[in-house]
Amino acid sequence: MINLLGLPISKLEELMLSEGQKKYRAIQLYTWIYEKKATSFDEMSDISIKFREVLKEKYCLDIPTIDKIQRSKDGTVKLLVKFSDGLKVETVLMRYSYGNAACVSSQVGCNMGCSFCASGLLGKQRSLTAAEMVGQIMVLNNVLREENKGERVTHIVVMGTGEPFDNYDNVMDFIRIVNAQKGLAIGARHITVSTCGLIDGIKKYAREGLQTNLAISLHAPNDEIRLKIMKVAKIYPIKDIIEAVKEYESIAKRRVTYEYLLLDGINDSKENAEELIKVIKGTMGYVNLIPYNETSLCDYKRSSGNRIHAFLDYLNKGGVNATIRKEFGSDIDAACGQLRAKAEQNEKA
Ligand code: SAH
Repeated sequence: MINLLGLPISKLEELMLSEGQKKYRAIQLYTWIYEKKATSFDEMSDISIKFREVLKEKYCLDIPTIDKIQRSKDGTVKLLVKFSDGLKVETVLMRYSYGNAACVSSQVGCNMGCSFCASGLLGKQRSLTAAEMVGQIMVLNNVLREENKGERVTHIVVMGTGEPFDNYDNVMDFIRIVNAQKGLAIGARHITVSTCGLIDGIKKYAREGLQTNLAISLHAPNDEIRLKIMKVAKIYPIKDIIEAVKEYESIAKRRVTYEYLLLDGINDSKENAEELIKVIKGTMGYVNLIPYNETSLCDYKRSSGNRIHAFLDYLNKGGVNATIRKEFGSDIDAACGQLRAKAEQNEKA
């Protein structure tokens, strides 16, 4: 069964042609699915009963089910969603003043093996399909609709579990579907993909002709520190990442965000800030400092508020734009990968 939620318009048009249908059938389907929120082919009253039977036989519109839901006092909603094969991922909804941001997972587990991250502890089980990523947004939209008529997901960060550039083609299809005006109509500038620095992915992404954003998990000012916390640093030295960023800037005409997780005593000193300034100088990127979400599953400690602010000051004084990431859902298991990790532990116990 092919899930139609995973097809960008161009691919759905091709499929319709191969079914002996007119091309516009694709837009018609999009309108039913994303605008009229149809959940079955039977509702699609302007499509012939005969073709609806074909659709029912060969295609589906499945979205994941909600396995667990946690709601924070600050409005954050964290879901553990379950796919048809029983595997689960986390999806989070964060309420900003400017809109509703979804943090989407791109894989079940992750193979990148960052030592501070709970998502990678069990390795990658599989990549998600584009339909399974679109499904995460649809589920959140349903949650929002039940809560409050008229609200929907307006921003997407592909920063949940998984490495998006290790699932490149599906993530690109996902972006095209959610970005399409007839799809979920989420503006390109409201969509951000975050990578741990897979260079081939950065170079390809630069050439997609998208106006979406790119974030790079740098987390260290030199390879020595980076190697201690990120396994991928073995393959991709910082120097090569910076070269790829420069290429991205010149081709995509967009600036990147460097994510920098502050780990107490590991990468949060004045010297580290000064070295970081030198490293990223020459690119237009700015820095998003991430207070570490401690987890019992990893040993690292979060830098103190003072140290985080001091680090910010060093960067700003050195002429680097930087912000501190706002935190959500601290009263629930909102920290990266923890809900799923705990659920799996309980299942095994
Ligand atoms: N693989 C991609 C996207 C998923 S992780 C990437 O590496 O960018 C999204 C972001 O959350 C990354 O910057 C990651 O390093 C960060 N992260 C992971 N565990 C974290 C934790 N416990 N606290 C805060 N940020 C964390």
